[in-house]
Amino acid sequence: MLSLAQLPVTDLKGVGAALEQKLQKLDIQNLQDLLFHLPSRYQDRTRVIPIGSLRPGDEGVIEGEVKGTDIAMGRRRSMVCRLQDGTGTITLRFFHFSAAQKNNLKSGVRIRCFGEVRTGASGLEIYHPEYRRVDESVISPVEESLTPIYPTTEGVNQARLRMLTEAALGYLEAGSLTELIPEPLRQQWRLPPLNDAVKYLHRPPVEADQEQLLDGLHPAQRRLAFEELLAHHLSLQKLRNRTRQQGAPLLTSTGQYCQPFLEQLPFPLTGAQQRVAAEISADLSQPYPMLRLVQGDVGSGKTVVAALAALQAVEGGFQAAVMAPTEILAEQHYINFSTWLEPLGLKVAWLAGKLKGKKRQAQLEMIADGSAQIVVGTHALFQDEVSFANLGLVVVDEQHRFGVHQRLALREKGRQDKRSPHQLIMTATPIPRTLTMSAYADLDCSVIDELPPGRTPVNTVVISDQRRAEVVQRVQDACHQGRQVYWVCTLIEESEALQCQAAEVTAEELREALSELRIGLIHGRMKPAEKAEIMASYKAAELDLLVATTVIEVGVDVPNASVMIIENPERLGLAQLHQLRGRVGRGSVESFCLLMYHAPLSQQGRERLAVMRETTDGFRIAEKDLELRGPGEVLGTRQTGMMSFKVADLQRDADLLTRVKQVAGQVAEDVELTDAIIQRWLGRDEQYATV
Ligand code: ADP
Ligand code: MG
Repeated sequence: MLSLAQLPVTDLKGVGAALEQKLQKLDIQNLQDLLFHLPSRYQDRTRVIPIGSLRPGDEGVIEGEVKGTDIAMGRRRSMVCRLQDGTGTITLRFFHFSAAQKNNLKSGVRIRCFGEVRTGASGLEIYHPEYRRVDESVISPVEESLTPIYPTTEGVNQARLRMLTEAALGYLEAGSLTELIPEPLRQQWRLPPLNDAVKYLHRPPVEADQEQLLDGLHPAQRRLAFEELLAHHLSLQKLRNRTRQQGAPLLTSTGQYCQPFLEQLPFPLTGAQQRVAAEISADLSQPYPMLRLVQGDVGSGKTVVAALAALQAVEGGFQAAVMAPTEILAEQHYINFSTWLEPLGLKVAWLAGKLKGKKRQAQLEMIADGSAQIVVGTHALFQDEVSFANLGLVVVDEQHRFGVHQRLALREKGRQDKRSPHQLIMTATPIPRTLTMSAYADLDCSVIDELPPGRTPVNTVVISDQRRAEVVQRVQDACHQGRQVYWVCTLIEESEALQCQAAEVTAEELREALSELRIGLIHGRMKPAEKAEIMASYKAAELDLLVATTVIEVGVDVPNASVMIIENPERLGLAQLHQLRGRVGRGSVESFCLLMYHAPLSQQGRERLAVMRETTDGFRIAEKDLELRGPGEVLGTRQTGMMSFKVADLQRDADLLTRVKQVAGQVAEDVELTDAIIQRWLGRDEQYATV
């Protein structure tokens, strides 16, 4: 049968060169692409909902009688229309409107609307609903089946896409979509035929189980989600295989530096550190590049493990680079590495944006001529002017902050004679297993699942900001006992400027209330040098209290800091709260974290803060975060691009992943098939194709 992949969109009536171009933006070139442009969700316009039963966030059809329409002045002029149906009243609000529109919405007129309910100035409101007048004496029909909603782009709106998909569906009898999952596997996993599934999702039949469809749990959706997850998995697997085909420096461990390093450490490694170090050591002695992700909760001692890996690279005759996402962190690593390694006769170079002129030149030379065996820095390390003598290993700390692309760019940087350096990626943000299985399928994973002995878990208290005065008192008491305190300010706005301003105001207030204390302030708008100076004096205990924005989130180590106040913790993700809290509890004294929320908390907000109070286990927190917020939020915006799925949802479809992995193994041999599956779902997005 004819494959719809062979028919260009221009075969459809009304699709000319202009529309063809616009469709390109949606990655649609042929009829198959068009049919794989699936609805991202559905609207339920199949019933009229009583106004009295609406909740914020609901979306649906309502019908009622207009009880008056007025112009409201407020911050933004708007037209408000009150609508009543006998069960309740709701406000329709329009920010753009005409005089004619106002006239049409006279008292007594019946209208039917569709829109999303939100909490507005007057209670429940719908902004800019779609609406039309209805006649009470004639029953006007609602839609029979769910309405598909497509992802759109400029010049290609919903209506257009509905028409185009309708036309393409017309071809489904004569031609077909290429079934890419082999028949025996389809039988084995009971997957419905592709054509049927696609048709179903574009035009759910009247008798469809609507609840199931709206929840994304219909077998047709699961069938496609399965294939999509498979495509992602195969793409990462391909990347991994390609990596394996590249050569890498053989870094044989001799113990020359590792042994004396371990002997001079003031503590023995934990069991988990030993295990992970051994896994890394085995990778480094392979002739292909290591790509290993080490996950270890805050304070689990990843730095020592990284140092051991770096030393093995040096023993093998190569350089190691250690990269951190911020200058504060990079500098901290630089201090650690030089204190540890210079006594062993090694040279550590340092490179960051703030290093300029002659000093920079000197470091660059040491890196280029190989007199520095270890190089520590920020992403400045990977600018063009930096050239390594012989880079054997790249360690990336706090991987979370870097996206896949940066990870790959790094690898390219160290490439010489077709050999790529080994890569070790360390993250303190535990990544739930479901995510590692998909987003990180190209990496091997190690987990440092044990904290060094002698740590006392942080006591977490959830407290309302109405008790702020008590909290300030507590801070004072703690400082008088010689403890150091962090006070973290957050803001709901994305604006960094506002967040910094809030921190400035808070610092001022605290300076007034606690005039005898030495109070510092650090935020993201300060120059790196200023920040470093403040951090250094806090670390040297020249400050009692540090007011900060979330810039201190990652990695900073001040063991004497044992109390942290977090304002408005309800605004942050759990993983971020966990990171912040990890800044205290690093010494042996009992530590406290006060989560000072602003009432009232939503149900979800309460649940989330309760998780923080109940556990300090980063993995449990990450799982909960994923459950409550979804993968985009958990991985951070940098990586969401890569995690955007058309049909699949990592949380909802997590149970498919084991099967996906099995099927991936079963089809991996067939290169043509594998490429076709990847192409269909990732298309031009296949980020890895060029590596
Ligand atoms: P993270 O995993 O958060 O990067 P670090 O490597 O900064 O943790 O280690 C946190 C602290 O624990 C450091 O002060 C480090 O010296 C110390 N540490 C690391 N390993 C051990 C160990 N095995 N026993 C005791 N202390 C350790
Ligand atoms: Mg660290």
